[in-house]
Amino acid sequence: MTVVAENPARTTRKPLRAGAFGHARVLACRECGHEVDLGPHYACPECFGPLEVSYDFPAVTREEIAAGPANIWRYKALLPVPSDIEESPNTEPGFTRLLRANNLGATLGIDNLWVKDDSTNPTNSFKDRVVACALSAAREFDAKVFACPSTGNLANAVAAAGARAGIKTVVFIPSNLEKPKQINSAVYTDSLVAVDGNYDDVNKLASEIAGEEEGWAFVNVNVRPFYAEGSKTLGYEIAEQLGWRLPDQVVIPVASGSQLTKVDKAFQELITLGLVEDKPYKVYGAQATGCSPVSVAYKVNTDAIRPVKPDTIAKSLAIGNPADGIYVLDVCRRTGGAVEDISDEEVREGIVLLARTEGIFTETAGGTTVGVLKKLVETGQLDTTLETVVINTGHGLKTLDAVSDRVSAVATIAPTYAAFAAADLV
Ligand SMILES: *Cc1c(COP(=O)(O)O)cnc(C)c1O
Ligand SMILES: [Zn+2]
Repeated sequence: MTVVAENPARTTRKPLRAGAFGHARVLACRECGHEVDLGPHYACPECFGPLEVSYDFPAVTREEIAAGPANIWRYKALLPVPSDIEESPNTEPGFTRLLRANNLGATLGIDNLWVKDDSTNPTNSFKDRVVACALSAAREFDAKVFACPSTGNLANAVAAAGARAGIKTVVFIPSNLEKPKQINSAVYTDSLVAVDGNYDDVNKLASEIAGEEEGWAFVNVNVRPFYAEGSKTLGYEIAEQLGWRLPDQVVIPVASGSQLTKVDKAFQELITLGLVEDKPYKVYGAQATGCSPVSVAYKVNTDAIRPVKPDTIAKSLAIGNPADGIYVLDVCRRTGGAVEDISDEEVREGIVLLARTEGIFTETAGGTTVGVLKKLVETGQLDTTLETVVINTGHGLKTLDAVSDRVSAVATIAPTYAAFAAADLV
């Protein structure tokens, strides 16, 4: 994990509004438990471990949540945001569809399968959730610039959210990123910066800028504790949409590992708050073999995650040095799940499989998750009789190249019935 010491003088600005972070109480270190006041901090001053938002939750009822808006703010009581969050312009992500996936289930031999389809968020990936929470924090910190290092989707979400909020955005990406993801950022911002290097280089640069420049909120660097909480809403929604109960198994893609750990945190919170019944569930992580540091550590049964140089078409998952990788191992081991990886060829197959069985076009990250689901079944690591949810985190239109030489017109014919009949297509 890259840890850069903070310089509080550069990040502490004006006093915070009362209730700026809702029912959040402090930032607590995941490693040593040391507590820090809510603010633009992300590393523990004692041990440099990552800080995480901790709460004094009010009593929340299912009815209160159900009466909220059809977006992530229905869970605002459980997020580090002010109670008037809906009034500040934002992209209003979340409350995406949970679809029954009987065709995919039948193909893979899984009795009871669902797809949580986050490709329909405002910028077509789950990143709109985390960015909405980071934007709220950036506002409360009075940030001048809303920024991120990104493998693509995050840059799209930051650029769009900043445009709606009327705050300057600067987004940094690896220069070899898919063209559609570049355009999907540049259309919202005049400050898309392509960096010659991989994501881990871009991330390191962002940490340096955050340390040098005043008033920059890097969503996944110096406001990361607030950003990360946004992923909990995926877990809340899955439970609410299942009729306020937890699934038996959930399969989640892993880049930095933040999303996976936060879906688990969400399930734990719902149990603690009495919003769902306590029951065992298994969490599975999905990676592409070309960037599988967490899967490798899982398989050799170590906690030591060795950073890798990514080489995979699943670019949105291409983080070679995943900040939350070790916590992914914790969650998957504790719940009895697993972490698995598949080849780029299997990623492509996963994309086409989901499209042809369920009418959902996913990007390479979703191809990875569906492909890993298939492999988990084939290797006997997943119980096919249990209720299973697979998360689709992004849209296939952003990674068309992944399947462009695999799917095409079956024939090109003259505009006549004779030509159609002669082609013998159906
Ligand atoms: C960022 C991203 C992920 C994983 O996010 P982490 O929280 O960093 O593990 C998964 N899928 C897509 C499409 C993403 O853009
Ligand atoms: Zn600590």
